Amino acid sequence: MVEFPRQKDAELYEAVGQFLADHKLSIEPANYAFAYRVLVDPAGPLARSVADLTDGGVRLTAQDIAQLGGPAPTNAAPAGNGDAASSRPSSELIVQADAMIARAEMQVADFSQAVRSIHAETSGFGRDLAASAAAMRQADPVTGTDEVFRLTATMIDRANVAERRMAAAEQEAEALRSALDEARGTARLDPLTELANRRAFDEAYDAVPPGTPIALALCDIDHFKRVNDDFGHAVGDRVLRAVGLTIASESAGAVVARYGGEEFAILFTGVDLDAAVALVDRARSAVAARRFRSRKTDAPIGVITISGGVAAGMSDEPREVLYARADAALYRAKAAGRNRAFSAA
Ligand code: GH3
Ligand code: MG
Ligand code: MG
Repeated sequence: MVEFPRQKDAELYEAVGQFLADHKLSIEPANYAFAYRVLVDPAGPLARSVADLTDGGVRLTAQDIAQLGGPAPTNAAPAGNGDAASSRPSSELIVQADAMIARAEMQVADFSQAVRSIHAETSGFGRDLAASAAAMRQADPVTGTDEVFRLTATMIDRANVAERRMAAAEQEAEALRSALDEARGTARLDPLTELANRRAFDEAYDAVPPGTPIALALCDIDHFKRVNDDFGHAVGDRVLRAVGLTIASESAGAVVARYGGEEFAILFTGVDLDAAVALVDRARSAVAARRFRSRKTDAPIGVITISGGVAAGMSDEPREVLYARADAALYRAKAAGRNRAFSAA
């Protein structure tokens, strides 16, 4: 493990992770907060209770944790699959955990920056040494310089080793960053629209029990490039967000995700093709009914439309197959003049 700017924080951070792993607790804010409270005051009453309960290396049960003031045990869905409202930790715990995550994020950012600059220096150093060795060899090929060559070669080797270590440390920082994303719950969220992202959508698809009728819809904003070109990217972002929220509010019960750029995906379960097309068409007309205006100048942006392609099948079908069929239908909807929803053949 590499050093954080403050060694104590780094140790605490590691210990929290170890505690969660030892007790097989999922990486979520409430559990982080609980582990933090146990470990931040090792002689305190909470840590002592935990020590008593875990005497002899026994793992804490969910009930133990709940009794000690930690998060209540739940049968919550896997991370990212719903809002598990019944297990929501108290706001104080959330604040504590958020503060800790924010601090860890800052440490990771500082660390990455430090590693990047050291990396740049070491690789420059290695290059300089290699160039000097070559220059010496050319200037004085006589055997008397053997010792200098040998020393230089050793230093080059060391620089190479240091560089490899730096690359490994950079990878470690990257892994930490994604662990923090997980802890924050942002790993499955599109930051612009606050809808599910592609990863969350794919996971939701894969989690549908086999033998379930499903429909997958793809909706793409029509001529969106023009919005950006005419009104700027910031206005484009706001339109994108508003369209996403409109689609989501018209698709209650379905999983709505921003699948990429200006494309949204909807997953309907237990809905047949005709019903899914009707629902997508309802979302389409809700979008088309909105009148967008520039917030800054109040100038009308005009009508924004979306096109949709819908494919139905069974959840056993690979995601890619249904996606390709929905995409082909979307393409036909675009070719037929846009602002319409088509079903896949
Ligand atoms: P079509 O009706 O054929 O879909 O036309 P289009 O202009 O919507 O499609 P095209 O694929 O040519 O352009 C998509 C545009 O969407 C280009 C890209 O800059 C924009 N876009 C993608 N993601 C974002 C985003 O996050 N914010 C903004 N403002 N624009 C985005
Ligand atoms: Mg488009
Ligand atoms: Mg597109």
